[in-house]
Formats: sequence, C-alpha cells, structure tokens
Amino acid sequence: MEEATCPICGPGSRAKNFLRARSGASLFSYVRCSACGLVFLSPRPEAAEMLGFYDEDYYGGEDRKFRFGLEVLRRLLAGARARRARRYFPSSGKVLDVGCGQGAFLGLMQEKGWKGYGTELSPRSASRAIQTGLWVSAGEIQENQFSPDFFDLITFWHVLEHLREPAAVLKRLRPMLRRGGIVAVSTPNVESWQARIFGADWFHLDAPRHLFLFSPGTLEKFMAAHGFRLLTLSHFCWEQNPYGWLQSFLNRAGFRSNSLYTLLKDGPRNRKSSFPLGDQGKMFLLSAALLPLCLLLSGVMGIFHRGATIEAFFVKE
Ligand SMILES: [Zn+2]
Repeated sequence: MEEATCPICGPGSRAKNFLRARSGASLFSYVRCSACGLVFLSPRPEAAEMLGFYDEDYYGGEDRKFRFGLEVLRRLLAGARARRARRYFPSSGKVLDVGCGQGAFLGLMQEKGWKGYGTELSPRSASRAIQTGLWVSAGEIQENQFSPDFFDLITFWHVLEHLREPAAVLKRLRPMLRRGGIVAVSTPNVESWQARIFGADWFHLDAPRHLFLFSPGTLEKFMAAHGFRLLTLSHFCWEQNPYGWLQSFLNRAGFRSNSLYTLLKDGPRNRKSSFPLGDQGKMFLLSAALLPLCLLLSGVMGIFHRGATIEAFFVKE
C-alpha cells in the first residue's frame, strides 16, 4: 500500500477521513482533501497489487459486454453519447479514446467518418479492438507519440477515476490536442444523493478500482488546472444512473455485492455463477419492481443536479 496525494493541490495538502469501504477481505479508506474537496483512495494498493483487483471479466469476457437485450439498449445509449461528442464539430476529425475497451465508441465515431485511436490496458480487450481494425495501444500514450495538435477530441469515459496519475496523463496528452479541441469526461459524482444515501454500498464507489471520486466542482478545478475550460456538464446519464440506483438498493438489501451486475455481464465465468437459483429469482423480481422507481429517481436527480454520474465537455484554451 502507498499513500496518495491530492492531484489538484499536490504533496503537503492535508486530507481528512471520508469513507471506509470493504472489497472482499480488504478494507479501504477514502479521504477528502481539506483544500479543494477532492475525494481519493489513500492509502492505495501499489500498481502491481492493483492488477489483482481487475479480473478479465471486469470488462466483459467476450465480444458482447452484456446479455443480448441489454446490449441493444447499451448500443443505443452509446450512440447518443457519440452524437453528443460530435456536436462540437462541423465535420469529422481525429479522436483519442483513453481506456477504449473493445473499441465500441471508436467504432461508432469511425462510422461517421472520424479517425479513431485508443489506449487500453487490458490485453484481451485491446487485441479485440485491434482485430476490428482500430489503432489501439495496449499501454499508455507516450510523450511525443503523436505530433502536436494531432487530435480534435480526447475522451475519458469512466476512466479518469481509475488512473493512478491523472494529472500526469492530462499533462502528457494536452499538447497532442489542438487548441479549441474538446476533452470529454464521464465519472461518478461523489456529491450525488446516490453516493450520500448508500455510502459504502454505493455501486459507483467500486473500491479500490476507483482511486478518485470527483464532484462537478472538483472535476472543474482539476481540468482548469490543466488549461481546460468547462463547456457543459450533464447530470442525466441514462447509461449509468438508473442502474446505479438499482444495484445500490440490492447491495443494501443484502444481496452479494454487485451480484446483479455480475449476472448481467456476459462471460463464461458468470454463466457458471455459483449464485443460488432461488436467490437469482428473488433478485430479478425485486429488480423488476424497483426499476420504475430507479428511472424516476434518476430523472429527478438530474433536475436537481445531483446525478450519480456526470458527463462533462471541456475546451482546450
Ligand atoms: Zn486538493
């Protein structure tokens, strides 16, 4: 384990205990920076140790991430997200998707004439993305790997909170983005009501994989420190927020942590789930009953600017 420091205020800033959360047999602590309010995991597992918390099925073991019907819905919502990213551009350009997974977002952009580039640390996901003809680096982008002003758009879809050194990554990528280029970020919102109500049971907490828990305020401060100005920030994230309510309710009701998520994901290990059939039935019935409430809550939280996850677009100045 290693101590972490606030990536906005740097070493020397003080932090107070915020929340403790269990993952398997381990207990993890999140602290809150006294100066800027950013919440982060500290102490945190060393880089090599952290790999043990990402199994290959974490990002879906096969081509599809979820079982069939849900995958159709997921693609529709991802298509809408790609359209939101393109609205800043009169014509197509070059996009870098950091943590691109199997390349679904890049595929959607390429269909509209964009040239897609990605990075992905999971070797299996990276090789699948490469098989579909995408340019994907199975490691991080290095300094000067692309010429200055190369990209028009850089996206971090639920990725920033996983990076060990998010400030270093932004600093390295910034010269490769042209002036007036856009950075898109989606990330859990630690100031959401979902986070406050469920605490350690909150689905989007995902300790210890989520090293940083942003809020609209701390995300804006973090990006501003690197010369990116906020354009829009949305609390209506239908890809994430209703499911966050549902899984958090189930976690609180005592079902094994994030077990619905595991069952819905497609993968050989998940199909052989040791989860008893009777419990699966109870969980699906409860989920069906809760779903309308979860959709309603997500809409209401969006109106009150308390979405469980947020999506923001920044411009490079
Ligand atoms: Zn700070």
